[in-house]
Amino acid sequence: MGSQEVSNVDWQGKHVTVAGLGVSGIPAARVLHGLGAVVTVVNDGDDERSRGQAAELEAQGITVRLGDGATLPKSTELIVTTPGWQPDKPLFAAAAEAGVPVWGDVELAWRLRGPGAAPWLAVTGTNGKTTTVRMLASILEAAGLRTAAVGNIGVSLLDAVLGEETYDVLAVELSSYQLHWSPSLRAHSAAVLNLAPDHLDWHGSMAAYVADKGRIYEGNTVACVYNVADPATEDLVREADVEEGCRAIGFTLGTPGPSQLGVVDGILVDRAFVTNRQKQAQELAEVADVNPPAPHNIANALAAAALARAFGVEPAAVRDGLRAFRPDPHRIEHVADVAGVTYIDDSKATNTHAAEASLAAYDPIVWIAGGLAKGATFDELVTGCAKRLRGVVLMGKDRAVIREALARHAPEVPVTDLDRTDTGAMSEAVREAARLARPGDTVLMAPACASMDMFVNYNKRGEAFADAVRALAAENA
Ligand code: ADP
Repeated sequence: MGSQEVSNVDWQGKHVTVAGLGVSGIPAARVLHGLGAVVTVVNDGDDERSRGQAAELEAQGITVRLGDGATLPKSTELIVTTPGWQPDKPLFAAAAEAGVPVWGDVELAWRLRGPGAAPWLAVTGTNGKTTTVRMLASILEAAGLRTAAVGNIGVSLLDAVLGEETYDVLAVELSSYQLHWSPSLRAHSAAVLNLAPDHLDWHGSMAAYVADKGRIYEGNTVACVYNVADPATEDLVREADVEEGCRAIGFTLGTPGPSQLGVVDGILVDRAFVTNRQKQAQELAEVADVNPPAPHNIANALAAAALARAFGVEPAAVRDGLRAFRPDPHRIEHVADVAGVTYIDDSKATNTHAAEASLAAYDPIVWIAGGLAKGATFDELVTGCAKRLRGVVLMGKDRAVIREALARHAPEVPVTDLDRTDTGAMSEAVREAARLARPGDTVLMAPACASMDMFVNYNKRGEAFADAVRALAAENA
C-alpha cells in the first residue's frame, strides 16, 4: 500500500492498526471493520471513558489494546492515526522500521472516496481556516452546488465521503496535523491563508510546520491560492509539485496584479479568473458584504472567493454567498453596546497572530487578554497596537509575559492585572474594562492565549465574557 496507490484497496482481511480512540479513531475503526479489515485499536490511556469506548468496539469485533500505544501490533499492514498523535511517537518509529505506512483520518477519507467523487477545495493556515471554509461553502451553495463544509468543522470527512448524501464539491478545512499524515491527498485547488508559529511542539520546528502546511498544494489541478502579504505562502506554491496548468493565484487587501484577487475602492475584485487579466478586473462583492468587514476577514473572503472562482463559480454567487455568511460564535462576535461602549468577544483568538488581526480592527480599544501563552512572546503584538490601546485588563496564568511586553512598548497605557485564574475573574475583568473605557471605545476580549488555565475551552471563556457583559448591561438598563 504505497502512497501512490488510490482508493481501491482490498480491505478484506487487511490488518489495520488504528492509533488512538477518540473523535476520529472510533469512526475510522468502525468504517475499516465494516470494510472487512482486521482492526486493532491501540490507545495510550486506560481510564474509565476509554474502557467504555473499548467495550463498545469489542462488542462489534474490533480488538482494543488500552494502556499501550507504543507497541506495533504484529502483522500490522497499515496504521491509521488520530491526527493529534505526535510524529515522534515510538509507534511511528516502529512502523517506519517495519515499512508500514501511516495515514491520518483525512488520508483515509481521501482513499475511501468512490469513483467520480466530489473534488475538494482545501483550506489551511494558522488562522482563519474555519471562517474561510464556511464562507466558501456559503458561496458554493449560493451557486446552486451541493456542498458541505467539512474537516475540523461540521460534517466529518469520513461521513462526507461515505454517507448517503452526494456532493458536487467539498469545502475542506485541514490542520497541519492532518496534512502531515496525508501523503496522497490531491485537492482540486487549495489555499494557505497565513503562516505564523503555532503547534511547534508537535511539529518539532517552524520549518517542519510550514512544510506540512505546504503539502496542501501537492498535486493541485486548477489553482494554488496564496496570501500576497505572507510571502512564505507563495514560496510553498513555488515548491509544490502540481498538475500541469495549475495556476498560482494571490489574494491581497491592496490593488490586485494579474492573477490576483484584491480590493479596489471598497470593492472585492478578481483579476485572475477573467478573460484578459492584464487589462480587466471583475467586480465580485463590496467590502460591506463581508461579515464582519475587518481586514483579516476580508482576506478570508478573498481566499474563499479565489477557490470558488477556481471552481468556476459566477461573480454574483460570490457576493450572495458572502452576504449569507454568518460567523461562528466567539470570533469577533458583537455581544452588546453598554453606555456607548461596544463589547466584542474574540475568545477564539487563542494565539498572538489571531489577536493581532482583531486588535487591528478597532480603535480605541480596552483589551482583555491572558491565559496560557504556549511559549509565545508578545512584543510584536503590543508594538503593533500600543497606539490604539485605551487600557488593558490581564488575567490568567501567563499574564506576566504580556504585562512585561506592555511595560516595554506601551508604558503609558493603564494596565489592570487581576492576579486571578478562577472562572469568576471574567466578570471582574469586564467591570474593570468598563471602568477604563470611554464612550465610543471597544472592549475587546481577544486573549492571545489558550483558555484551559481558567476554562474548559474557548467557547466557555467566550460565554463567560458574554454573561458578564449582559450582567453589566442589565445594571445599566
Ligand atoms: P481557525 O479555524 O484557523 O482556528 P477561525 O476562522 O476559527 O480560524 O478564526 C480563529 C481566530 O483567528 C479568530 O478569532 C480571529 O481572531 C482570527 N483570524 C481569523 N481569520 C484570520 C486571518 N486571516 N488572519 C489572522 N487572524 C485571523
